Amino acid sequence: RQRYEALLEEAGHDGLTGLLDRGRFDRECPAAVRGAVAIGRPLSLLLIDIDHFKQINDEHGHAVGDEALRRIAREMGFATRAGDRIFRYGGEEFVVVCDGLAHAPALVTAERLRRTIAATEIAGLARPVTASIGVATAPEDGGILAELFGTADARLYAAKEGGRDRVIGRMPPQRPEGTMDWAEKRPA
Ligand code: GH3
Ligand code: MG
Ligand code: MG
Repeated sequence: RQRYEALLEEAGHDGLTGLLDRGRFDRECPAAVRGAVAIGRPLSLLLIDIDHFKQINDEHGHAVGDEALRRIAREMGFATRAGDRIFRYGGEEFVVVCDGLAHAPALVTAERLRRTIAATEIAGLARPVTASIGVATAPEDGGILAELFGTADARLYAAKEGGRDRVIGRMPPQRPEGTMDWAEKRPA
């Protein structure tokens, strides 16, 4: 009985990071998008892919890569609202679903996540790990999950092409006053 409960608790969660897993995303998100669109509430999807992650594994080993994923997952939790749902979509890819969040504030959230990831110190790594993020919002960027995901994916691809460690949405993200990038904090 206890083991069965433990199993239920674990179901739907990714073993490495504790985040919601891909199955949960596939099962729950189509309806979440439909529901939001039906009542005219915005829903934003952030697609996050760690930059040059293969290189981190190759240079420092898989254990360091795993630790980076765990640390980043934890920090992402702190940088989002309680209602935001964070999924580990694939190996080093994450999706954040922000129900009720319009595009402009979603870009602010994405930018905060990007900075948080770049500022996360990982044992064994001297250089920060960065991520690229594509943001799409229903209904403007798609009225069903597949369409929304496609738009976010195209923007993620543009973020990679544009040099990585950046957020791409429909418009450029606003930069919060008085904040600096990790690169700017480094001594010249
Ligand atoms: P890009 O900036 O273009 O995204 O480059 P990338 O190296 O991050 O992308 P690519 O898709 O080539 O590599 C992803 C790597 O993520 C390859 C795979 O070994 C690694 N990876 C996937 N899942 C895990 C995991 O659970 N643990 C570790 N340590 N590595 C993982
Ligand atoms: Mg990837
Ligand atoms: Mg990657």
